Amino acid sequence: MKEKTIVTYGNEALRKVAKPITTITEETHQLAELMLKTMYEANGVGLAAEQIGRDEAICVIDIPPEAEKTECRPFNAPVPMPLIMINPEILDTEGTQRSEEGCLSFPEISAAITRANQVTVSFTALDGARQTITVQGLLARAVQHETDHLKGILLVDHMTPVQKMSVSGKLRRLKRRA
Ligand SMILES: [Zn+2]
Repeated sequence: MKEKTIVTYGNEALRKVAKPITTITEETHQLAELMLKTMYEANGVGLAAEQIGRDEAICVIDIPPEAEKTECRPFNAPVPMPLIMINPEILDTEGTQRSEEGCLSFPEISAAITRANQVTVSFTALDGARQTITVQGLLARAVQHETDHLKGILLVDHMTPVQKMSVSGKLRRLKRRA
């Protein structure tokens, strides 16, 4: 299985609302595997199906423990990586955090984005079981970023007009390439 090309800003696939996965099949497993491979190959920590041009509601996340803030590590420790979430739904959020955020569909672009510091998310795992987890820090940021993708919401939508202006040249070039 070869990794897929990641679609970038301007590609209409990124604006679609993902379709819920009703039955987990061998194809779902293969899709998850393909997404992980693609994410690792691109040195990313998260990827949504739309970023490889698919419309299923599935995303993958893998945050290495050392990338997480020290104070969040024990809290997030029970969540095994990689995290594969089917039909994820954020149930609750708490607090705020602000830090630099990027996206594999926005190469060479990042911006300081405010997100909830803690999220409770429910999702279906590959084994079909519905799970609910509460996570903090970078992992919580990734969960918010990837669930956004599945709703067609992108990094650029969280930028202020000033932030957008500062990367407008790069955004234009991306759009032209898409
Ligand atoms: Zn992204």
